[in-house]
Order: sequence, then structure tokens, then C-alpha cells
Amino acid sequence: MLSEEIIRKAPKVELHEHLDGSVRPETVIELAMKKGMALPSYDPEELAKWFSKGSEEKSLSLYLQSFSITTALMQDKESLRRIAREEIEDLAEDGVVYAEIRFAPILHTKEGLSMDEVVTAVIEGMQEGRKKTGVEFGLILSAMRDQSPEISLRTAELAVAFSERGVVGFDLAGDESGNPAKKHIKAFEFIRAQNFNITIHAGEAFGLESIWQAIQICGAHRIGHGTRLTEDMTIKDGKIMKMGSLAHFVLDKRIPLEMCLTSNVGTGASKSYKDHPFPIFFRNHFRVFLSTDNRLMSGTSLSKEFMIASMEYGLDIRDMEKITLNAMKSAFIHHEKRLRLIYDVIKRRYAEIRDEYGLS
Ligand SMILES: [Zn+2]
Repeated sequence: MLSEEIIRKAPKVELHEHLDGSVRPETVIELAMKKGMALPSYDPEELAKWFSKGSEEKSLSLYLQSFSITTALMQDKESLRRIAREEIEDLAEDGVVYAEIRFAPILHTKEGLSMDEVVTAVIEGMQEGRKKTGVEFGLILSAMRDQSPEISLRTAELAVAFSERGVVGFDLAGDESGNPAKKHIKAFEFIRAQNFNITIHAGEAFGLESIWQAIQICGAHRIGHGTRLTEDMTIKDGKIMKMGSLAHFVLDKRIPLEMCLTSNVGTGASKSYKDHPFPIFFRNHFRVFLSTDNRLMSGTSLSKEFMIASMEYGLDIRDMEKITLNAMKSAFIHHEKRLRLIYDVIKRRYAEIRDEYGLS
């Protein structure tokens, strides 16, 4: 089993984290007080507990309520910049060396900012964070499944327009049921015509059809969660006995699955850590890695997710390095940048850690 110290020290890569789901409780309190907004608690520890209650109690309404609080506080440039900067600082503190953060710009235009201004403020904050910590980042712009296809297309256009300034991809998030990804096909067609990157939340609440559609109709290069890909497999004692064509396709084409253990247990996509398909995917050579989804709402960190995986599935240092390399290979930044991080940072640091702790 991996120790907490080693997990924290080891370089990690975060590719699936929502900006509005990973705000510091202290910052929520400060900004809410400035705005005169009521909070369930003004004590950072208690407030943090409240934020993760929705996930712990599997209450969707509490979960959504917690997001409405953070997004309400992220409607001006200064707050957006601050929260983005703090996010990079917190990831650095946790040993993350490369991060892709996502958010939906449209949710931050309620008090007059344009989507362009929103994205600019977030990038400025992340750049400040990088300057301070050295953590490299990419920003992913999310469209929401339940919003109009026109807004999705505008978001896709914005993502491409900002591709020289730090935006690396386009995502589709939100409620899967009744909101198929293909509703937003124009946005995906635009992204593909521009040779840009797509990740789609799919196969968490909804089954195979959602994953198939994301990959084969919308052209997703990565899948957010994808836990229900197991429905295309016959599994016995943790071993895959048989796979359908979609599972084969995902495995053969090395389509990355961004897996978020605590978040998936919180939303009920998995009954428990023990029931989570991550170890099945990982041990059978799928391109999977660990992510946090929402550090605040899931009361987690990437180190915590690795700690859980280590305890539940018996990961060792070699597994942790492999998962980190899986993530780095799946990142949306250009190939040469990925290689530099893999060889100059990740592999080097893991070799040092193995030496330092006498791990072979
Ligand atoms: Zn997510």
C-alpha cells in the first residue's frame, strides 16, 4: 500500500476538475460576506462539510444547491481570477504538475460579463497561479446538456478562439437523461472541423447509448466517467470474460476514461468504492486515470483519490506512475509538451521517489 506521504509527494496529473466545484471554503465565505449572500455556515470547516453533504447523502437537490452558491459568487472578473489562481495553488500544494480545469462560461454571465470576459479572467487567474507554482495548465470550456445548442456552439467557437491563450478543449456536462449529446452536434462538428479537442461526460447516469453517441456521433476524444461501459462486458471475479464492440473500440483506440471515484459514489453511478469499475478497467489495460471532479463538493483531493484507490484496490507505486502516465498521455496539450512533462518531470520524479523510499 502507498503511504499518504508518498502519494502527496509523487507528481500527479488532474484532467477532470470543475472550477465551480473546487472553490476554497474560506474564499466562499469571504466573497459571500462581501456580496451579502447568506451561507449555511460561516466556519470554513463546517461549510466544507455542508458542501460535501449532497454527495455523502446522495441528495441531488443539495448537490445542485451547493453549485448554485459557488456560481453565484463567480460573476465578476476579480472573483473568477482569484478562484482560478487559488485552484492552481491548491493543486500545486497537492503535488499536481499538470491540470486541465473545466467550467461553463455561460453560467458566469448572470451579472453582465460577456463569455469572452469570463474566460479571459479565468485564464489570467490560472496564469498567475502558474507563475507562482510552476504548475502547467489547460482550460476546457464546458457546454451544458440542458442548454440550447446555440449556446453550445458559441462556447465551442470561444474555445477555439482562445486556443492560443490556454484553452485546450471543449466539454459537454450536465444531466444526461433527456439531453442526448447529439442535440449539440453543431458545436461538435465545429470543433472537429477546427481540429480541436473534445471530452464528453457520458455513461455516468446513462448507459452504453450515451457513451456510443459521445464517441461515434460527437467525436469525443476522451470520456468523462464512462463507468457504465461495464454494461458492454461480461465480468467474473474482476476479470473480463467477454466484451462487446464498443468496449473493444474504447480499449483498442486507447480512448481515455476520466474516472472520479468519490464523485461517482456520491452521485450513485457506483454503489461503493468496492463496486467501482476502475480496477477492472485499469487491470485490463484500458487508458484510465483518476480525477477529482469537484474537490469541494466531493470533499476530496487527487491525493485522497489515490489513497482510496490504494486502499481499495491495492495500488503500488508502479500503478500510480502508470495511472499518471495514462493521464499525461491523454492530455489535450500538444505532443511535444506532453513528452517533456512525461520524461523531464513525471518519470524523473517517480525514479527519485523509488530511490528515496527504497521501492523497487
Ligand atoms: Zn465532471
